[in-house]
Amino acid sequence: TEFTHPPLDEHLLSNIELARYTTPTPVQKYSIPIVLQHRDLMACAQTGSGKTGGFLFPILSAMFTNGPNPVPQDDRPSHGYRPRRAYPEALILAPTRELTSQIYDEAHKFAYRSYVRPCVVYGGADIGFQLRQIDRGCNLLVATPGRLVDLIERSRISLANIKYLVLDEADRMLDMGFEPQIRRIVEQEGMPGVMDRQTLMFSATFPKDIQMLARDFLKEYVFLSV
Ligand code: AMP
Repeated sequence: TEFTHPPLDEHLLSNIELARYTTPTPVQKYSIPIVLQHRDLMACAQTGSGKTGGFLFPILSAMFTNGPNPVPQDDRPSHGYRPRRAYPEALILAPTRELTSQIYDEAHKFAYRSYVRPCVVYGGADIGFQLRQIDRGCNLLVATPGRLVDLIERSRISLANIKYLVLDEADRMLDMGFEPQIRRIVEQEGMPGVMDRQTLMFSATFPKDIQMLARDFLKEYVFLSV
């Protein structure tokens, strides 16, 4: 298939084949090589363009190839009681329960038979259930900003291991008033800085406030409009 130029991880390719995706959509065709080259990306793409695969495929491919990350030594509980924490390597922020659930479903499908365990958290739902999911392991977290801030405040999630940060439908997140929570998360102590992570932003539009987020969160990014 065309997913082999540039080559994605073999195991991911077999999962893509199982899903019967034969040809990358235009956004996937352009975003996959950019992300595999470790570049930051600002992509203007609509829902239905296949943008989810555009970020999930290269991220999962790199995660499969690199294997699991160990928990940082100095972040392990040394004594006494401390709640279990998850150390995701990939964080995907999206505005709504529906969108986070769709991204999670895709991540779950393409992480099939790999070490990567995706999790999803969103507001307006029982946090206990979401915590139990996270406690079983979480390499890739899909979250709405408000619920993630809550989990960080409860010390249940550490962002210290983040290598990939995705802001999906960034314009909708700003329209919904999530900018303070997004800044809170990205500027969180322990979150790797812009030079130490790869950041991808997707938005249907590219107004001033999105340009400013891109300026603050991305480094020398590639701009893609499809
Ligand atoms: P998205 O824009 O990411 O929400 O994707 C829209 C729909 O297209 C979803 O139902 C995907 O499962 C499907 N899709 C994405 N990429 C491909 C592809 N390369 N081949 C076939 N279907 C795809």
